Amino acid sequence: MSHAAILLPRAVNKPFDYRIPEGMQVTEGSYVQVPVGKTTEWGVVWQLLAMSDVPPEKIKPIQNLSTLPPMPALTRQFIEWVANYTLSPLGNVLTMAMRVPTIFEKDRVYAPKNLITKEMPVTLSDEQTQAADILRAAVDAKKYAAFLLDGITGSGKTEVYLEAIKAGLKQGLQVLVLVPEIVLTQPLIQRLEERLQLPATSWHSNLTPKQRAERWQAIAKGEARLIVGARSALFLPFPKLGLIIVDEEHEHSFKQEEGVLYHGRDMAVVRAHLEQLPIILVSATPSLETETNCQSGKYTRLLLKARHGGATLPPIETIDMRQHRMPAKQFVSPHLIKAIAETIEKREQVLLFLNRRGYAPLTLCRTCGHRLKCPNCSAWIVEHRALGKLQCHHCGYQSRSPKNCPECKAEDSLHAVGPGVERLQEEIVEHFPNARVALFTSDHIATPKQAEKLLSEIDAGKIDIIIGTQMVAKGHHFPNLTLVGVIDADLGLEGGDLRASEKSFQMMTQVSGRAGRAEKKGKVLLQTYNPDHPVMKALIAGDRENFLKREAEYRRAAAVPPFGRFAAIIFSGRNESEVKQAATQLRNAAPKQAGTQVLGPAPAPMTQLKGKYRYRLLVKSLKNSNLQQYLRQWLALAPPPSAIQMKVDIDPYSFM
Ligand code: ADP
Ligand code: ZN
Repeated sequence: MSHAAILLPRAVNKPFDYRIPEGMQVTEGSYVQVPVGKTTEWGVVWQLLAMSDVPPEKIKPIQNLSTLPPMPALTRQFIEWVANYTLSPLGNVLTMAMRVPTIFEKDRVYAPKNLITKEMPVTLSDEQTQAADILRAAVDAKKYAAFLLDGITGSGKTEVYLEAIKAGLKQGLQVLVLVPEIVLTQPLIQRLEERLQLPATSWHSNLTPKQRAERWQAIAKGEARLIVGARSALFLPFPKLGLIIVDEEHEHSFKQEEGVLYHGRDMAVVRAHLEQLPIILVSATPSLETETNCQSGKYTRLLLKARHGGATLPPIETIDMRQHRMPAKQFVSPHLIKAIAETIEKREQVLLFLNRRGYAPLTLCRTCGHRLKCPNCSAWIVEHRALGKLQCHHCGYQSRSPKNCPECKAEDSLHAVGPGVERLQEEIVEHFPNARVALFTSDHIATPKQAEKLLSEIDAGKIDIIIGTQMVAKGHHFPNLTLVGVIDADLGLEGGDLRASEKSFQMMTQVSGRAGRAEKKGKVLLQTYNPDHPVMKALIAGDRENFLKREAEYRRAAAVPPFGRFAAIIFSGRNESEVKQAATQLRNAAPKQAGTQVLGPAPAPMTQLKGKYRYRLLVKSLKNSNLQQYLRQWLALAPPPSAIQMKVDIDPYSFM
């Protein structure tokens, strides 16, 4: 073989031909450095060629061959599969697998820290043992099999999948655990390390360039055995992967909303299938997608019914806010205040959940009615009073909080509308001046270190009342926490999101699951103006099955996911009429196909984002249709002008 087609990690759809210099031993998958324009770049040998159609005087030679192990064939197949499915440039998907600064500069030594030995013998219950046996056997069989490990919070799902990890490690294989929120993963990593007596390698976007390079190499060489990572870890070139676990599989953060638009959970199942290995999806509140796959027999459900040690799920009650005339600027009902008082009196902990960062979601001028808006987005700008700043949660725009109305210049006329966590904190401190209150949001906890510090303070009983956003919903075990109050249970039900009810149900179930996880009994109070809403009723009755059944019936009737398919096409640009025109042109070029419907163009709910105007098309098709093929043919008919950006989102989760 004298030539090679090399794929580069950039926005290209196919590899380019290069000549292999005399004596260079490249194979498919080799990492090689090649000239590109005036510079050089590292890429991957995608194919060896006996000859090339490029004229000999034009073709350039490969310059360098890395000593790192070649990218495994299965990793390359996976990259191709994802590019095809998401309609992304092949090179952009490759980027996710290898664009790591300085990985090819030198061989690195990865020396994970020493482990602290701690014996923690655990005897599994009968139902835990049954599930663990099945998973161990699946790992030993080295074949594709998909499982849903389904059990209420605290039922020992982690204990059970630990057994599967052990089996994989014993076989000398690599195990990948995908988690939705890496900032909060330290306690899990520590638990896995202690139990497995093996260092875990974490992989996420907060690593330093040196850490990335070391870890990438250790994974590519097969030295790192247990990898705990965010969705991006799925694209690493594992040479001997034996098991994938997706913890909290229902979490929407597995969907990547920038660059290559993919769903980490779904692509994990694809990778498991390609590599012929078992995958375990884990959740107390499975997504309707996964639930449906269990019912159709594609996935095997392993059910854990009991909470460990006889702890019970806390009862959930609603507080009907229509019956409380709340004083202005107060958001916590007397009923909830009383429950908080009783709880801290007993020296137990309280969690108040409000999924709104900052002081107030909206600031308004009492004189002229002006509302403070982000200059770049169709969104209100949110006051973060502790920082004295206004922030846009969509584009990162910041400014100082003004004293006067920017519109009519009236003094001291700006007025906060509605509660954010900071304002809730103010109200709580007024009621309970001696309580120790902590905020638990992405603004306060940005790094694993900060998370560890707060979690250990809560553990040590140094906090009485935790006020948190969705960040607290995720998998912590607070033994002394016995009261959960949801300040605005109706919040997630707003908006036209296909999954609004499902998401609300999951979120509130997860938050509720933080209460009463140990010997002490817990209680959950939901403040709502819609106590009869199906989501509230399902939560009170603790009836997940019925909720999912209703939700499935509704979606089946509407032929929407998971019973039909969606793709969104989003156009954006600086000139609104050009954006609209490009969308309309593409819409008009849509080929007719039975069972496929094109809706729009419509201005996106987020009409302006980061200074760009946005229009959307929504393609709806039957479950078994080849949506990608249809899109590929269609999109070639009316490519947008270069000033307009077009993004295709297969299986969209965001409808903004
Ligand atoms: P889940 O992942 O379902 O929320 P965990 O695996 O975190 O549940 O278990 C909840 C708590 O109960 C943990 O502290 C765990 O160590 C403990 N636990 C679960 N099963 C057992 C068991 N068989 N023996 C001892 N402790 C257990
Ligand atoms: Zn903005």
